[in-house]
Parts: sequence; C-alpha cells; structure tokens
Amino acid sequence: MSVGDFTALNAAGLNLQAVFDLDQLPADAVAALRRRYDPAHRYRQLILIGHGGRSLWEAVKASDIRSENPIDDFSVRTVGQWFSQQFPGRTPEIIYPGDIPADLQALGSIAGWHHASPFMLGINAEWGTWFAYRVVLLADTDLEPTRPLQGESPCGRCTEKPCIAACPAEAMDGGSFALNKCIAYRREASSRCKATCVARVSCPVGSSHRYGDEQMRHAYSISLREIERHR
Ligand code: SF4
Ligand code: SF4
Repeated sequence: MSVGDFTALNAAGLNLQAVFDLDQLPADAVAALRRRYDPAHRYRQLILIGHGGRSLWEAVKASDIRSENPIDDFSVRTVGQWFSQQFPGRTPEIIYPGDIPADLQALGSIAGWHHASPFMLGINAEWGTWFAYRVVLLADTDLEPTRPLQGESPCGRCTEKPCIAACPAEAMDGGSFALNKCIAYRREASSRCKATCVARVSCPVGSSHRYGDEQMRHAYSISLREIERHR
C-alpha cells in the first residue's frame, strides 16, 4: 500500500483528494457502481477529487482549454494525466463528471468534506462552502485510504445564522430549504441571485477562500441555465 502523491493535482488547484477502499463504502452504493461500471470487480478503490478555493479557476484560465465546460474538461484532463504518470499501464474508470449512481454528498460526508448547510450546499470548517466535487474515479490502485477531514459542522456553532436572513427569497425561513422558492426567485428578471447566492456569500466561514466574481458568475450562470433547461 502506498501513500498517494497528489502534488500535480494540488498544483492544478485540484487540492482535495480522498481515497476509499470500496469495501469502506456503503454496500448498496458499491453494488450500484459495480453493476454499472465494474461487473468483473476489477477495481478496488474509489478516488474522490475536488477543489477548494480559487486556485482551480486560475489554473483553468491559464490553460488552453476553451469549451462550454472548461472546469470539467480541465479537471478530467488533469486527473487523467496525473493518473497515467502515477500508475503507468493501469486504466481507471472516470465516473464523474457524469450521471453516476452514487451520491456525491454522501461520499463527501464520509471524506469529512460535507456537512449540510441551511441552503443545502456542503460546508466544512476549513473551506466553508467554497469547495466542489470535480472528478470521481474507480481504480485498481493500492493507495493508503485517506483519513477524513476533521471538524464538526460550523453551522452547529453559528448562532446568528446570517445566511438565513440574507436570502432574498426567504427560502430558509420555514425551518428547511424551500428549493422552489430559491428557483422562482433566481428566475425573476431583477433577481440578485442570477450570478451568485447571496446567502452563501454572507456566510463568514472560510471566507478567505470565497470565489472571485468571475468564478461565481461562471458557476451560477451554469446552474441557472440548467434550471431554465429543465422548466
Ligand atoms: S452562516 Fe452560519 S448557519 Fe449559515 S452556512 Fe454559514 S455557518 Fe452555517
Ligand atoms: S441562490 Fe438566492 S434565493 Fe437561492 S438560496 Fe441562495 S440567496 Fe436564497
């Protein structure tokens, strides 16, 4: 069993990595993954790769990638290059980006990255909400599984909960998150949330990692486009 060398991923802003042995993960999730991708049980590990903060966006901008989904395309390319350098001759199955039969937030919880925030994004003490899942792969590797990121949910100690009051759609006022209110507000012509989430920005946790304006516009215009596409 070897300790993973993630230097190249860290340098590209893909600075969150979690390695799981498949038998560490919930049996039903593994069964669904095996059914779809690995009926011959070739893979022993699942590697979850994410980004925290702004460095990935800077790396994407500095790259030669010009596409509709530059972050996804850059992430997949970078992870593919990293894997083939680290494990020559082996072929992983990249299962995300894509429609995987596994819950990314559940994987994030096991990795210690995800605690639920009032507005349903994941949060942790180190990065706040300023992180995201980028690539998931199945691999026949023998890396040492990573230890979960430590720390409790910052929301438990946050007494004032400024995110709830900041939401112009009052989407959290009922004690749970009303996605329909959020979506309806985001679609309004004069919405303040076309290219941001005012509640997310109001959270003080991990604020030094908050995305810049351009990265926010990129992320939230994609989600608004998806909302419009599925109406
Ligand atoms: S403002 Fe407080 S309750 Fe809201 S997401 Fe941040 S830590 Fe959690
Ligand atoms: S995107 Fe806007 S409406 Fe939706 S939760 Fe965030 S602040 Fe509220």
